[in-house]
Amino acid sequence: MLPITSLTKAVIRNIKLIVLDVDGVLVPRGTKIKQFGNKTIFETKKIGGREIEMIKKLKEKGFFININSGRGLYMLEEMFREIMPFVSLTYENGSATWFKGRIYQHVNSFEYMKKILPKLQAVKNTNIKGFEPKEFIISIHCKRRVKEIERIAAQERKLYCIWNSEAYDIGVKKIQTKAVGVKAVAKLLHLRKNNILVMGDNYNDREMMNEGGVAVSADKSRAKGDFYVPLKGKVLPAGLLMGQILRVL
Ligand SMILES: [Mg+2]
Repeated sequence: MLPITSLTKAVIRNIKLIVLDVDGVLVPRGTKIKQFGNKTIFETKKIGGREIEMIKKLKEKGFFININSGRGLYMLEEMFREIMPFVSLTYENGSATWFKGRIYQHVNSFEYMKKILPKLQAVKNTNIKGFEPKEFIISIHCKRRVKEIERIAAQERKLYCIWNSEAYDIGVKKIQTKAVGVKAVAKLLHLRKNNILVMGDNYNDREMMNEGGVAVSADKSRAKGDFYVPLKGKVLPAGLLMGQILRVL
């Protein structure tokens, strides 16, 4: 892996679509959530002004920007309201994409998920902070690993259960990954793999990193890429990447 400062104009010669993860890439990692019975308190993070300007500039230069996250659409809309005319939003680990006000559903996970959800909701453990509201995947925020959740998930052979040190993401193996979302967006835009640059930082980005002609990692220990940026610094990983692209164009 090379530092992002080694990314040249030649490397992005064919790139038309830039795919950006959200947490750890466009906003800092970490979700604040609390649940008491039927009440959920959930903090919304907003994209920064510097990142907004860079996305607008890249759009002006002719790039498509896809925001590809494990979060739900309602939350991404709140986070990215100001730049929605300039981006598409792929949500819940590749389950669906919002593009120009239209929803494209890529995955139907209902049959896979309907039995496991009540079992997970019945788990009592003080380390469970809450279930993040989602439609297609299940995300359970926890202070630390919860054996009972892992035991229940392990019984479902078609499901993955990824622990990212703040939450479990549970979804359908192979058919419900961010990579599925990237492929669907590429098809929508009539693009090929070598037209795509992907940036991610976490375990749920791994498959997606292989769907780009160029992959940039914001956490070398969790997702590999051709290039890397530091996860923690003054500028967020997406800012470092977009800054470099705008510099070399
Ligand atoms: Mg992330």
